[in-house]
Amino acid sequence: MRQFTRAGAGGTMLAADNIVRTGEDQHKEPGDMATAQRIDGKAKAAQMSAEISLQTEALRKEHGLQPGLAVVIIGEDPASQVYVRNKKRTAEACGFYSEQHTLAEDAAEEDVLKLINDLNTDDAIHGILVQLPLPDHLDEQKITQAVVPNKDVDGFHFVNIGKLTSGNTSDAFVPCTPAGCMLMIKDHLGTDLSGLNAVVIGRSNIVGKPMASLLLQANATVTVTHSRTKDLAAVVREGDIVVAAVGRANMVKGDWIKPGAVVIDVGINRVEVTVDGETKSRLTGDVDYAEACESAAAVTPVPGGVGPMTIVMLMANTLRAARFAAGLEA
Ligand code: NDP
Repeated sequence: MRQFTRAGAGGTMLAADNIVRTGEDQHKEPGDMATAQRIDGKAKAAQMSAEISLQTEALRKEHGLQPGLAVVIIGEDPASQVYVRNKKRTAEACGFYSEQHTLAEDAAEEDVLKLINDLNTDDAIHGILVQLPLPDHLDEQKITQAVVPNKDVDGFHFVNIGKLTSGNTSDAFVPCTPAGCMLMIKDHLGTDLSGLNAVVIGRSNIVGKPMASLLLQANATVTVTHSRTKDLAAVVREGDIVVAAVGRANMVKGDWIKPGAVVIDVGINRVEVTVDGETKSRLTGDVDYAEACESAAAVTPVPGGVGPMTIVMLMANTLRAARFAAGLEA
């Protein structure tokens, strides 16, 4: 595997400019063609899922406890239906008890809140996920805050956000997408990101902001950018780590990427392409993958990068919630 290492004694606490690459990457010049490593989120998620299954089995044998995940979906959004199906399937593959609650598009807020309240007090359920986005008539904040913090496996409750922001993550639930991104970043750069510049594109509560908190906690120097950022390309070019979470297909171009950067593409965009005269729909990220591969050290593909990691982090959080409920360490 190609890896970054940092020059100097111990390889830590050094300025970003001292980053050198080892092995076959060491002699790569900026502009060399398509030599970045493809970060295989799908393979990593499969490994983690197998590990979670083993831990689930041990929990069942030693403590008679089966982690339980409840997924609530409101409305007919086709993308949400796919995500929920995948989450339920993965939960079952991990050996969890899982249940899905499907409510009509026009469900009353009080019915949604009553369901969440029932799940909050159900001992078989350790994690509750309310699939977003919600239909317009529902108050997203009221609903996400109705989930008790110790079952908030999405990490959206203010208690969990506060713990993350204040660096008290030992018993916090961290939002799944940034948590998965962080694992992939640490695989490449190690756990201490001292001296590295990280640029996060997007400031949403579910991706951009918690991502920035995690990077900061790992000692990166973090810049959060958004739609009002001036000369975004120039800011991104400073990033040894770039996390793109915007929702604009192929917005981040190859010449925005600092040579040797690690690029995490969170975006999921559906675009139409013409193949042999036929129009087809396919998924693409926020980063122009082919261009980014020309200068980055490593890039996540879309699909197959952040998406599978997000789902497996939900399972990791649910297992953790079950362990906490049983008075065990995470
Ligand atoms: P949001 O729409 O909530 O946030 C998008 C962010 O991008 C905003 O902060 C916005 O800025 C910023 N932005 C928009 N246009 C620009 C621009 N031209 N230049 C710079 N910044 C811009 O999206 P999410 O964070 O929820 O999701 C982002 C993407 O990630 C989507 O494609 C989504 O589908 C995907 N996603 C993927 C997941 C996965 O598991 N792989 C999970 C979650 C999301 P401003 O705040 O100023 O409006």
